[in-house]
This record gives sequence, structure tokens and C-alpha cells, in this order.
Amino acid sequence: MKTIGVLGGMSWESTAEWYRLANERVRSRRGGYHSARLLIDSVDFAEIEALQASGDWEAAGRLLARHATGLERAGAGVLVLCTNTMHIVAESIEAAVSIPFIHIADATAETVIAAGVRTVGLLGTAFTMEQAFYRDRLAAHGLEVLVPEAAERQIVHQVIYEELVHGVVSDSSRDAYRRIIDALADRGAEGVILGCTEIELLISSADSAVPVFPTTAIHVDAALRAAEDGQEG
Ligand code: GLU
Repeated sequence: MKTIGVLGGMSWESTAEWYRLANERVRSRRGGYHSARLLIDSVDFAEIEALQASGDWEAAGRLLARHATGLERAGAGVLVLCTNTMHIVAESIEAAVSIPFIHIADATAETVIAAGVRTVGLLGTAFTMEQAFYRDRLAAHGLEVLVPEAAERQIVHQVIYEELVHGVVSDSSRDAYRRIIDALADRGAEGVILGCTEIELLISSADSAVPVFPTTAIHVDAALRAAEDGQEG
């Protein structure tokens, strides 16, 4: 198995989940004492959040590209970025390394399509729901993407930044998300992408009448496939 380079810390709450899932899957597939070969470079989320708030995507791209280069130099054979939002700078990261970069939106779109869903709701940060970088990537796979109405998008975004990235999981926010998912389904969504890596800490398939697509778990599976698709080590 190749070593997976993990750009994490955005936030660490979801990177911890990424780490747990990756190790659980390797243990259940390979048995015995096996665990995932990972190099995690966990950034200070305060720096990232400040760059997001000021819209300085160039600086964010440079920063993450530098961390990605470090992971490649340290021996990573595959690279992942454990946040949907920061895929806004995916091109800068990909340009900085020569190892395969497993794009979270591609992995997600492939999973959605394989489930037979064509019209899909998208929950995530305001950046992910409102800017083109993520929706266009999904659309390129043939998906029609629905996002919540403006007031609902604000709730989804606030719950991420004011609760989930701080490790707060509340019943009232779960109820609010359930209502927003219902509204997307009423508008024709056949499934809903949990397009922020912390959302699956709050929402599971039990909270939705239509299938949900948890991007952290999907990303782990795609990264492990890529890491296993090579030499042992
Ligand atoms: N982890 C989140 C995501 O998947 C949001 C935090 C961030 O801005 O990176 O988009």
C-alpha cells in the first residue's frame, strides 16, 4: 500500500474522522494488525479561516501547495485534502506535486452516479454551495446540483463554523438540517451530498428520506483504492 499524504486540520474534527475511518477500513479488509499508512500534515485552521474570510485564495493555495510538497518529499505516494471548501485551490496543490491528487468532488460524483442518482442536493459551506468550483466539478460528471435557498444556506454555513468545527453537535441543528434536506428532496433531489467533511458528524442516512453521500467516508474509500492500486510498502 502506498502512503497517503493527508492535508488535514480543516477542521481537525473531520480529519480525526478521516483517520479513524481509514484505519477501520484497512483493518476490516486486511485483518490482523494492519492499519493505514498515512502521513498527516494538520494545519492551524485559524490561518485557513482567516484567508477564507478575506478571500485570499492565492495565499491559501500557496500555503497548501507548500504543505503538499512537504508530504510528497516525506514519502507520500497519494495526496488528499480533507476539506471540500479548500478544493477551491485544488489546482495550485495539484500543480505543486507529481503524486496523484484524489479530488473529493470527483470521488463523490462517481459515488452519486453509481447509486443511480442524477439530481443531487448539496450541503456545505457558503463557498462550496455558492461558488462554481464545486458545483461545476459535480456537473462535469453529469449531475444536476440543487443548493438550499439563501436563508437555509446561511444556517448550514453557520452550523459548520459556529458548531461542528468546534466539536459541537446539537439536536436543534440536526433538526434544522433535516428540514433543509427535506426541502431539497421536495424540490427533486434524489440524494444529498454532505459536502462539508464535518456534516457527517451531525447527519446520517437516518436523518434523510433520500440517500445521503458523506464526503469524508467517500474520500477515504477513494484514497484507499488509489493507495492500494500500487506497490506494497
Ligand atoms: N471541512 C469543511 C469542508 O469540508 C469546512 C471547513 C473548511 O473551510 O475547510 O468544506
